[in-house]
Amino acid sequence: MKGFTTKALHTRAPKRDPHGALRTPVYDSVAFEFESAEEIQRAFQGQLAAHTYTRISNPTVEDFEERVRVLADAYGVLAVSSGMAAISNVILTLAGSGTNIVAGRFLYGNTVSLFSRTLRAWGLEARFVDATDPRAVEGAMDENTRAIFIEAITNPQLEVPDVARIAAISQKHGVPLIVDGTLTTPYIFKSKEFGASVEVISSTKYISGGATTVGGLIIDNGTFDWRRAPALAEIAERFGPSAFLMRLRREVFRNLGASLSPHNAYLQTLGLETLALRIDRSCQNALHLARFLKEHPKVRSVNYPGLEDSPYHEIARRQFHGRYGGLLTFELESRDACFRLMDSLRIIRRATNLNDNKTLIIHPASTYLSEYSPEERRAMNVSDEMLRLAVGIEDLEDLVEDLSQGLANV
Ligand SMILES: *Cc1c(COP(=O)(O)O)cnc(C)c1O
Repeated sequence: MKGFTTKALHTRAPKRDPHGALRTPVYDSVAFEFESAEEIQRAFQGQLAAHTYTRISNPTVEDFEERVRVLADAYGVLAVSSGMAAISNVILTLAGSGTNIVAGRFLYGNTVSLFSRTLRAWGLEARFVDATDPRAVEGAMDENTRAIFIEAITNPQLEVPDVARIAAISQKHGVPLIVDGTLTTPYIFKSKEFGASVEVISSTKYISGGATTVGGLIIDNGTFDWRRAPALAEIAERFGPSAFLMRLRREVFRNLGASLSPHNAYLQTLGLETLALRIDRSCQNALHLARFLKEHPKVRSVNYPGLEDSPYHEIARRQFHGRYGGLLTFELESRDACFRLMDSLRIIRRATNLNDNKTLIIHPASTYLSEYSPEERRAMNVSDEMLRLAVGIEDLEDLVEDLSQGLANV
């Protein structure tokens, strides 16, 4: 099997279903029974691969994990209850009090809050740097740095860091590189090919298949020698490459309890089967809409890595195999114009999610970034005249027509 969608459809569950069900059913069962006392002992001691309790592992969730593992060509995958759970579990596995992580400055808002407030209170320092400048990343590191954390495409700035160059720095210093690949997924960005150690994904977005459920993924690419990570050095001596996922599954993830429900895993597996088709369509729509908006007299500017004048076009083309994601931003003359356009739209919905099947529009400055001061927003490259369009999979003509009629009212 070579193709992404073939693998998504035909990767077999680790165990054959007793009824031969063609689709792994929802195993809504918390506990699993064993034939003998000795068997349950072996399961608990890790000598028998079996499910014991659904907070730790579950057949439906495992099927989802296995398909993602094959699609990402990764060493192993752990599915969790949300993108935020993926990020917090990974950081808590690698770093602790008195250590630091070096992170991109334009991360997803809740990730910034997790790093600069929640984890800060436990003695972990986050050093935010310009991730498009590999020297700034290296300059912020010291002997207490436990991870580098970046996003494959930032939102809403749409910056694309050079992952291979940052990965080289990470390997040089023996510090794992974690990439948040939510906006790309393994379909358009194989983080392993570019040297990332771990990828985290909010499967709530593209993977869920139309914003059906919240979920997250932790992908160990198998490219990092965990003996070099102080928090894992001892486990790695015993368990080798599985040290990171072992500490998660047997300690951090188990103890924090952010497990993915079997029902949500089922829906997300269904989403995974059509991921490539949906991403192709949304990326094509986004590119066409970016070009359409760029030509429109009422649009002041358009930001999309797929446009040749984007400073990230070249690196995005190389990293993402000629696809540029479903997210774009554009500016009108004024904030009022933005509101008038939003209020005139008939198909495109006013909502905050991304990578839904539906196209969604939002005015970031007055909504999810309104808690920041105008100066802080300027530092984030977010103006009052900017709209964010998360492009879905509708028929292109309908989207063009909706934006045309909306802009006519501006
Ligand atoms: C949405 C998002 C998250 C958080 O994911 P949830 O599933 O909502 O917890 C993290 N990173 C990025 C880039 C996101 O877009």
